[in-house]
Amino acid sequence: LPQIAFAGRSNVGKSSVINRLLNRKNFARVGSAPGKTTHINYFRIDRKVYFVDLPGYGYAKVSKQERARWGRLIEQWFADASLLTLGILLVDLRHKPTADDCVMAQWFKDSGKPFVVVANKQDKIKKSEWEPNLARIRETLALDAQTPVISFSAEKGLGKEELLGVILDHISADTAQE
Ligand code: GDP
Repeated sequence: LPQIAFAGRSNVGKSSVINRLLNRKNFARVGSAPGKTTHINYFRIDRKVYFVDLPGYGYAKVSKQERARWGRLIEQWFADASLLTLGILLVDLRHKPTADDCVMAQWFKDSGKPFVVVANKQDKIKKSEWEPNLARIRETLALDAQTPVISFSAEKGLGKEELLGVILDHISADTAQE
């Protein structure tokens, strides 16, 4: 089955975005202890696709060992990138992407698979900040023109249709190849 992988800093709202896409309140655990998600969760949807919930990163209080463990886990997962259909990198629309976000973006780029950036928590900033902040994200992550950045609010449901559209396009392209 096609796999859609979600990655992002802990607390960026990854679980909330997944729940929003699936119209569930509690499918992916929201607000779980940051930095403690050290395994990869898979959600199979309608026997059509897997949503892969990669453990969050960038939590300040994480030990070196925990961080190294995270790196190995993600690296191992990417080693078999043939399974990946589309990568989704979640960032916070309010902030400049962190160094960890840049590392994660590079992993997705190196996979050679399509990826999309979702800028979450749009509801938390003024409208006049949307465009400049999106541009800053694009620039900091050094995205090429083909990589979309979708502004999103898991809280309000903003951007949901656009993101689902991108996901469905890639699922059908993947299935057509088989
Ligand atoms: P995760 O650690 O990345 O899975 O993040 P969670 O989904 O657990 O969300 C972390 C916190 O951010 C929770 O308190 C959510 O309610 C909140 N949150 C997530 N998305 C949004 C959003 O779009 N807008 C606002 N205002 N809060 C959000």
